[in-house]
Amino acid sequence: MSGRNRVAKETDRDPDLRVIRAEDVGVELRPWADLPYSTRRRKSSVEVAPGDIVGSISRPYGRWVLVPDGYGRALASDHTVVLRKQRDVSMWYILSFLRSERGKRWIESTFRGTVPRIARDELALIPVPDCPIESIEIDMILRDYESELIRLESEVGQLRSRLSAIHDTESPVETAANVDSLYGIVASVRSVGSLEDSLRIAENAFPYPIARTLRAIDRSPSPRAKYHEIVHEGLETVSTTLASLCAAVARDHSISGRAIKSWADSVRRNGATIGSQFAMALEVASSVSNDLQSDIGGLGQAFGDANSPAVALFGSLPEERNRIHGDYPKSDFQFRQRLGEAEGILRELLDSLSFLARWEIRYSESIEPIEGDNGKPDFYGTFRILRGDNSDWDLVEQISSSPLYRGRAYALVDGHILLDLHPYLVVRDCPVCGALEVYYPNSFGEGEANLKSIDRGHPQVCSDDGILRQLRSAFTSL
Ligand SMILES: [Zn+2]
Repeated sequence: MSGRNRVAKETDRDPDLRVIRAEDVGVELRPWADLPYSTRRRKSSVEVAPGDIVGSISRPYGRWVLVPDGYGRALASDHTVVLRKQRDVSMWYILSFLRSERGKRWIESTFRGTVPRIARDELALIPVPDCPIESIEIDMILRDYESELIRLESEVGQLRSRLSAIHDTESPVETAANVDSLYGIVASVRSVGSLEDSLRIAENAFPYPIARTLRAIDRSPSPRAKYHEIVHEGLETVSTTLASLCAAVARDHSISGRAIKSWADSVRRNGATIGSQFAMALEVASSVSNDLQSDIGGLGQAFGDANSPAVALFGSLPEERNRIHGDYPKSDFQFRQRLGEAEGILRELLDSLSFLARWEIRYSESIEPIEGDNGKPDFYGTFRILRGDNSDWDLVEQISSSPLYRGRAYALVDGHILLDLHPYLVVRDCPVCGALEVYYPNSFGEGEANLKSIDRGHPQVCSDDGILRQLRSAFTSL
């Protein structure tokens, strides 16, 4: 069917219907709400329906798109053609034929006129090869393929913009931090060869507490020490950091669920196990990943799908760790053998965690309100960037229109989303060694909280009323 309608003029405008122009036919159909209003509906008007294929009949050719379910009411314009199902055929199959090289050659052969346009009658004569597979099945396969393709294209677009972000910053420290994070992202695109390579990337680009533990693994003096660092410290650091980030995401996005509640309950009692931290992180990840646009810093992509490699890998390390009750490796030979396995798991785990390079943990050293553009106050802060394994944290400045608090940990995700991590992560001076360390609440009760530093494992008991109140509110609200 050939479209007939045009963009509405003031005197001739249909009250309900929009119009699909040739330029609205792209990789996807332009969202209905962005279409212009149509001229009035006439007898010859063609109203599109979900499942129809819409094509542009003028240049550039080969733009065909399927009208998705739930698309609003719209008429086809005079520069488009609409193909509608007459019998049981797969419209996705026809769509992919029209977009294929062979399909394009057939379409070219139908061109008529000095300004070439697709002739509708000739189009109807194009022989589409028969498909032996049931239409319902091929529809499903091709639709899934297309949505995966669109997802990848959007990710590639995000990668491009990551690159240009390097040049947007004024401070050399932020430029260096951005280059570091690209380093980590490379690992997510290309699988890295050896554990040394993975460690090197992660030590530069990952959030500080994880990077620091990785350095300890890298430099452990013996196979025995290395095995212990990977299976115990490594796993605990990753699991605790991930749980803290996910808790902050859950609070910020009002995500709730059984695993989140059960994790919060165990922190309010004796402390959470790695199993419950991980179950909670999975629940948060799966609820942000339902929609690509709502994914946060790659979390949903990495952990949102129960069948993803990251999820399986995360199951293997606790298994290795639990061997401490039983066939724990005894001889040096056994150690080296088991170390080899544990290293393999860790390397793959680091690759699958490379999205963490998109999460920059920042600690607000000073905050002051300043006058904003619109008369409302903005908040000016200086932040320490907790990235990489070096504890000389670089200082950057940032202005935010929403309130910031001094002495809190934040996560800057993909360079633009600022997520409050307090009090799931707390940065404090350590009474054991005097360094500034990143703590998580291991457990807390009425009168005191047991904080444990992620980077060095040093404990700290805290009875400060402010923190206790913030902990209660942060954990009961989940
Ligand atoms: Zn310490």
